[in-house]
Amino acid sequence: MLNYRQQDKWDNGNEGFQSPISLISDDVINNQTDWQFDIKSPILGQLIEDSNNTFRITGTGNVTINQINFQFQELHFHAPSEHLIDKQQYPMEWHFVFKTNAMQTMVIGKMATEGKSSPVFDSILDEYVSGEQTKLSKHIDLTPFLQGLDHVYHYQGSLTTPPLTQGVEWYVGKDPFSLSELQIERYQDIFALPNNRKIQPMKHRPVSFGKM
Ligand SMILES: [Zn+2]
Repeated sequence: MLNYRQQDKWDNGNEGFQSPISLISDDVINNQTDWQFDIKSPILGQLIEDSNNTFRITGTGNVTINQINFQFQELHFHAPSEHLIDKQQYPMEWHFVFKTNAMQTMVIGKMATEGKSSPVFDSILDEYVSGEQTKLSKHIDLTPFLQGLDHVYHYQGSLTTPPLTQGVEWYVGKDPFSLSELQIERYQDIFALPNNRKIQPMKHRPVSFGKM
């Protein structure tokens, strides 16, 4: 099981451009980028699987960014958030992981703040079984989480869990969506230990900002 208290000892942790980073709006190199983002088929969660530090939802769906095709791989969760946005940390960060046919990884990160509850998260929490991989009783449509991404940071980084592979295209939404206090507590009752990797050095890499 991944030990976040020993994360300084994770292999490859100092290699190249790592994630997460602290995203600062005043430091972006271009704040009007317009990525051509299209959801080509709905992002549907089909299986929920315990991965010890969180759970992951796998399924189907595909999107394009500037005509490059990405297949949905999984959605997983971090609490608290990994990226900081203008120095702010959020109670949760959701990672929607995609891959091209050539195995290039792209992740869309979304921040969750405390507010009204999300029916989608309730259905996910209701179906989770500790230590198991479970087929969801009906497919969960995750597409709405990836719509209306009007304020997004983009940079190149890495996976935030071992093997910490570099060359990941990150798109992190600035606008949070909301989960209820009870939902965040339900999640923390299952996964009591924080699973956020600490902020990594920028090493002068550029961050752009815009809409998808
Ligand atoms: Zn993640």
